[in-house]
Amino acid sequence: MNDSTERIRPEVLAIEGYHVITYDCPVKLNQNESPFDIPADVKDRILDAVQVQAWSRYPEPMPLDLVDAAARFVGVSTDQVMVANGSNSIIQHILNAVITQGVRVTIPYPSFSLYGQFTEILGGDPDYVPLDETFSYDIEALIQSASSGVSLVIVCSPNNPTGCDISNEDLDRLLASTDAIVVIDEAYAEFNDHTAVDLLDKHPNLIVLKTLSKAFAAAAIRIGCLIASPHLVTQIQKIKLPFDINVFSRLAAIELMQHRDTTDDNVRYIKDERDRVFQTLSTVKGVTAHPSKANLILFEVDEPKRVFKELAERGVLIRDVSGYPGLSRGLRVSIGTAEENNAFLSAITNVMETTQ
Ligand code: PMP
Repeated sequence: MNDSTERIRPEVLAIEGYHVITYDCPVKLNQNESPFDIPADVKDRILDAVQVQAWSRYPEPMPLDLVDAAARFVGVSTDQVMVANGSNSIIQHILNAVITQGVRVTIPYPSFSLYGQFTEILGGDPDYVPLDETFSYDIEALIQSASSGVSLVIVCSPNNPTGCDISNEDLDRLLASTDAIVVIDEAYAEFNDHTAVDLLDKHPNLIVLKTLSKAFAAAAIRIGCLIASPHLVTQIQKIKLPFDINVFSRLAAIELMQHRDTTDDNVRYIKDERDRVFQTLSTVKGVTAHPSKANLILFEVDEPKRVFKELAERGVLIRDVSGYPGLSRGLRVSIGTAEENNAFLSAITNVMETTQ
């Protein structure tokens, strides 16, 4: 029997794929999700709206009411917005639009692994730029890479998995230094104090990505937004599959973006908890915690795999990021409710005390 995998492109065979290892733990702090589900009355309103739609019909190829809600929410015009089935897929669309064999892309590391993975699948050539020794962006190194003939620069701000960010001042310099397209992935920006959207008018080479999966507590509905100059929106839109947003996701996203009070309250809560978890974690013996602008904290320990496993045995699931380049001692914890965070803090204290 012939091995049909030989038909698969070598770039695909070479990569490992995106895996999330799941354990059945009562405290789930491994995917930077919101610990607060959508309130029951909001879910009811969304389900009522879905109920009266015709499921026999295709949804809009480009749902204008959702684009309009997103544009109002972000404070831009509708021709600066594209919505799609999760910001993951938007990253893929941008790479599909730009990369052919050997096209160079500036990607800081460690960062969100999909940037490099998709770039490599498409035959692109990632120029991986390390963070500095404090796990912050090295802006001079980024500018050097961005101005060396790359076609695309992808910076996650605040960054997953380190929590560092790029200031608008540094970003302004980066954008001015290059004629590449610069993508700022703002999946976690609601937990920070600034947004790159403010630089859009000045820089036609900027793309900002947003998602409803984190601060909006809606990872299951799979809605992401691209915000950019109209000329870039028009081009990326050609790559996107039509009808990728189903009727449920469209109506849910509109409802969530129009009623942001609960989201704002939850974000304030998570930011306070993040600062509290960071303070306490920093005092745990054998732990080096890194400051964060997102709803996650990177920390380092000796033997991260063992610490990860012992936390899971105590019912607390976090993320082992020690396989990321430059993070051989790294673990990442998402910020949950005060109760979940306390469970994590007492488990990590206990694990570290017993392993010293
Ligand atoms: N960007 C970053 C930096 C992320 O961490 C994630 C999800 N972990 C995504 C994008 C993907 O988000 P979405 O759910 O919108 O696909």
